[in-house]
Amino acid sequence: MHITDIMRKDSPTFSFEFFPPQTPEAAETLYQTIRELESYMPDFVSVTYGAGGSTRALTHDLVERIKTTTKLNPIPHLTCVCHREDEIEAILLRYAQSAISNILALGGDPPRGLPYDKARDSFQHAVDLVKFIRRFNESGAHPDPRGFGIGVAGFPEGHPATPNRLVEMEHLKAKVDAGADYIVTQLFFDNRDFLDYRERCALAGIHLPIIAGIMPITSMSGFKRIAELAGGARFPARLLRALQRCEGDRKMVSRVGVHFALEQCHDLLDNDVAGIHFYTLNRSDATRVIFDSLGIPRLRGASAAL
Ligand SMILES: Cc1cc2nc3c(=O)[nH]c(=O)nc-3n(C[C@H](O)[C@H](O)[C@H](O)COP(=O)(O)OP(=O)(O)OC[C@H]3O[C@@H](n4cnc5c(N)ncnc54)[C@H](O)[C@@H]3O)c2cc1C
Repeated sequence: MHITDIMRKDSPTFSFEFFPPQTPEAAETLYQTIRELESYMPDFVSVTYGAGGSTRALTHDLVERIKTTTKLNPIPHLTCVCHREDEIEAILLRYAQSAISNILALGGDPPRGLPYDKARDSFQHAVDLVKFIRRFNESGAHPDPRGFGIGVAGFPEGHPATPNRLVEMEHLKAKVDAGADYIVTQLFFDNRDFLDYRERCALAGIHLPIIAGIMPITSMSGFKRIAELAGGARFPARLLRALQRCEGDRKMVSRVGVHFALEQCHDLLDNDVAGIHFYTLNRSDATRVIFDSLGIPRLRGASAAL
């Protein structure tokens, strides 16, 4: 379903993010997760694209598999790094032929541990990719006359490469003006950052739906990885204190992390968020607890018989 149709509904959207598994065991875990989460009827699920385009075939295969074997609406991520224009065009063609409705267009993380020359990429910034997808849409190669719906990334706490927040907002506005349909944010732990970001977007003339990225912390090692991967992520003292109190007790860490994310979700819903996107890390437990506690299955009529 095209994102503009998804967003037309009155209620906020709920969506999940997966990454392509690299081993048969990881694949088994992911497909189990997908089976468990499918019944929650998310509006879409998104599939990441490895740093430096390292998972391009795996991303495509997972998107295809979700599309053909489940009722879910998969949105592939696509990045500029390490890609030439003809490669991007070929990827778009394949997705169009598979009737994939939307793409999340990103700058992309550079490849890890490999030499990388950004100047060799055909697209220097996500805005160039958005423009290219728009041109592809206009070519009529997609079965939907509107072509792909286009999502872009937003950073409530700011993107580390652009310390000037006014300039950063101009870059976001350029993506919107180039034809983006929605924004999904980087994870954040302080809702004030998101709400303020949403206001700053409105002041800059950005009136697209902004979907909030939420990642429940489920382990101390996961927490430390977030700090490393989502560079610059701010962790409120309230969260750090709560995690410190239960260090050494894995179950308690997970309960505290999920409870914190649940409180964030309640508050976002109270503040009319356009959507909540869960970074699942390919596991279902935390997301299911949050969904059940928010009453989302009921909201969407899944348990109307109860
Ligand atoms: C929801 C979400 C999903 C993600 N999924 C993936 C994924 O699947 N794979 C992956 O590799 N990475 C992923 N990332 C990470 C993302 O690709 C990186 O954080 C990247 O550095 C920023 O992406 P962007 O799309 O915002 O890039 P851009 O919009 O290109 O911005 C990157 C930086 O360049 C600056 N900039 C933009 N335009 C200009 C310009 N014209 N001149 C100068 N500077 C400019 C911006 O201000 C920003 O600092 C994801 C991030 C988010 C929030």
